[in-house]
Amino acid sequence: MIFKDTKSSVGQLISNNLHTMVQSAILGFPRIGPNRELKKTTEAYWKGKVSVEELFKVGKELRAANWKLQKEAGVDIIPSNDFSFYDQVLDLSLLFNAIPERYAKYNLAPIDTFFAMGRGLQKSATETSAAIDVTALEMVKWFDSNYHYVRPTFSHSTEFKLNGQKPVDEFLEAKELGIQTRPVLLGPVSYLFLGKADKDSLDLEPLSLLEKLLPVYAEVLSKLKQAGATEVQLDEPTLVLDLPQEAQQAIKKAYQFFASKASSLPEITLASYFGTVVPNLNALKGLPVAALHFDFVRAPEQFDDVVSIVGDKQKLSVGIIDGRNIWKNNFAKSSEFVKKAIEKLGADRVIVATSSSLLHTPVDLENESKLNPVIKDWFAFATQKVKEVVIVSKNVSGKNVSAELEANAKSVAARAASDITNNPAVKKRVAAIDAKMAQRAAPFDERLIEQQKSLKLPLFPTTTIGSFPQTRDIRINRNKFAKGTISAEEYEKFINAEIETVIRFQEEIGLDVLVHGEPERNDMVQYFGEQLNGYTFTVNGWVQSYGSRYVRPPIIVGDLSRPKPMSVKESVYAQSITTKPVKGMLTGPVTCLRWSFPRDDVEQKTQAYQLALALRDEVNDLEAAGITVIQVDEPAIREGLPLRAGAERDDYVFWAADSFRVATSGVRNSTQIHSHFCYSDLDPNHIKALDADVVSIEYSKKDDPNYIAEFKDYPNHIGLGLFDIHSPRVPSKEEMIHKIETILKDYPASKFWVNPDCGLKTRDWAETKLSLTNMVDAAKYFREQY
Ligand code: GLN
Ligand code: ZN
Repeated sequence: MIFKDTKSSVGQLISNNLHTMVQSAILGFPRIGPNRELKKTTEAYWKGKVSVEELFKVGKELRAANWKLQKEAGVDIIPSNDFSFYDQVLDLSLLFNAIPERYAKYNLAPIDTFFAMGRGLQKSATETSAAIDVTALEMVKWFDSNYHYVRPTFSHSTEFKLNGQKPVDEFLEAKELGIQTRPVLLGPVSYLFLGKADKDSLDLEPLSLLEKLLPVYAEVLSKLKQAGATEVQLDEPTLVLDLPQEAQQAIKKAYQFFASKASSLPEITLASYFGTVVPNLNALKGLPVAALHFDFVRAPEQFDDVVSIVGDKQKLSVGIIDGRNIWKNNFAKSSEFVKKAIEKLGADRVIVATSSSLLHTPVDLENESKLNPVIKDWFAFATQKVKEVVIVSKNVSGKNVSAELEANAKSVAARAASDITNNPAVKKRVAAIDAKMAQRAAPFDERLIEQQKSLKLPLFPTTTIGSFPQTRDIRINRNKFAKGTISAEEYEKFINAEIETVIRFQEEIGLDVLVHGEPERNDMVQYFGEQLNGYTFTVNGWVQSYGSRYVRPPIIVGDLSRPKPMSVKESVYAQSITTKPVKGMLTGPVTCLRWSFPRDDVEQKTQAYQLALALRDEVNDLEAAGITVIQVDEPAIREGLPLRAGAERDDYVFWAADSFRVATSGVRNSTQIHSHFCYSDLDPNHIKALDADVVSIEYSKKDDPNYIAEFKDYPNHIGLGLFDIHSPRVPSKEEMIHKIETILKDYPASKFWVNPDCGLKTRDWAETKLSLTNMVDAAKYFREQY
């Protein structure tokens, strides 16, 4: 100890630390199972085909498999309570008894109350039980990911108390297997902040419930301690938002409360992810928790600031393995980053971790039998990421992992140099994009005159959003074609017959701008991705979107380009059999990007512009082939908006609109460009920036006069969705007339289009026919009035 002062050089610190193992941690693992076991069992349970015992058994097996996998990989800190049968936020609502009376009153088994809140429940009466009819709680996007959580919904009568002890049960389950875990729960402030007041208690401010909630939180934490948990992970991802002062205060209050009970609670790791916490640093400074976790994949620039507030005894969990994407980690780079933390804090106070839960990544790359092996070597799914965390932690601890490092460096270099990744012609073309390419030849007013001359549409023109019912027959034939059991000619004949049915139906009921119905498309992004260079696809790369719904995002692996036309054949065929205009139908650059796993080696905006150029060629080809109306869908444009106000958000708002305009501005004034968005609190200014001639927006459930008023000054034409395409319900003509009347109070009739909320692919023909007929009749009614 005498020599302490003279030995405090950084180099000495590191060499002293060589014997200390830096710990490795996983923040959460996907629960869906390597072969979607969770989906299969829950859906079977809902249909009454498997018992609750069977459901629980499968849950238990999945948890055990996940823990063992992490244990065998050598992970030091393994999560528990990251499992859920539907959603981890909904788990908390059940656990804390935040169950609105409309669900509680049925006195169902807890698991059934849980599912009723998540997805609604309709059951007719039986001899022993009354009928049940209750809709689901609101579902909301989890930050900027494609996961959706069930929104906690509070009222004045909400009474927090422990309802079961899921986190404790699952901790004990792991313990029985000989695996010590770190239970994870969404922290109290984020839980409340992400919630809302119920209809009957609109004046209730969720954060005002903090004081009532904290003792119940502490109760479950202390039960965990009694069960043997030494640490817990409390997630407070709201720390990456623009938090109001009250919420920052709430963070301090909550964790000081836990600190006051420290002796009876496990140690707390407070985790943030998906962005920087720097604007909320004051809330974190001096917070009495054992460890802080930050996402350095998304926000490496926060390093100096956050390290400066780590207390003398606190640990820093360095989120460095990407929980949101599928790319192999760069071990050399990550190790350098972690070493910076070790230099500052010492190896015993640094943890190597995933940036967030791995919930957002597919389960296991080993399941991919069809990937090009060259490309496969660039990926890491959740199972591989677990190993990556361990390797980086070993490396920074001075353990010999040279074989792994060498292989990793090779793979990283191969990807960077690959001609799958790099296409110089595409790079050159993106660099040459200028302002003129992103601008139509004339302003909207002039374009409109030419479009009216050539299209001759009536007032209140009617159209649909693109897809028509995707029948079983369509799916069967598409699969047959994919498997090669029917020839290309047979398939084309089948598709053309489908197109003809859709065209004839639209003519019959009197729609004005027709669509071909999209029968050839499996998915609006995948369909185009499969035809572009620079994309690849998985066979089993499922990621939970919500409840039992999983998506399999295509992966952008390299510079994107279009080798040949992608949709011209079908549109031209449709146009050839009718005299009415048929809309060409494309998916926009931002939606293609957002619903894929993007590259991590070039900026997202560069990828959007590459897509924009490919689409520009397609738009121009459609026009050249005689298509006069072209719709470019951008339903994902709102979800790409960065979480915080500031430069990054401003930049996004610009390039999202600009890339759309690059895609759509190469056409004549007389060609009418449409765009479509599913409802998501769109800002009229962002939509205006696209300069589309006509936009259609999901609207039927919105029911908010202020929203219409916001669009009053929108200069171009607009169709606000008149009926909900998610529901089999058929709206009457009168109902739609009433909707239009309300809209026209605030909105000029000359600019108004008549259309449904979105595509009709999930509906069946019977409903579609009735709903669209009523819709067209409603438009005709107004034509007579004006
Ligand atoms: N054109 C697409 C369709 O009708 C649009 C889908 C969407 O917006 N999600 O299916
Ligand atoms: Zn839509």
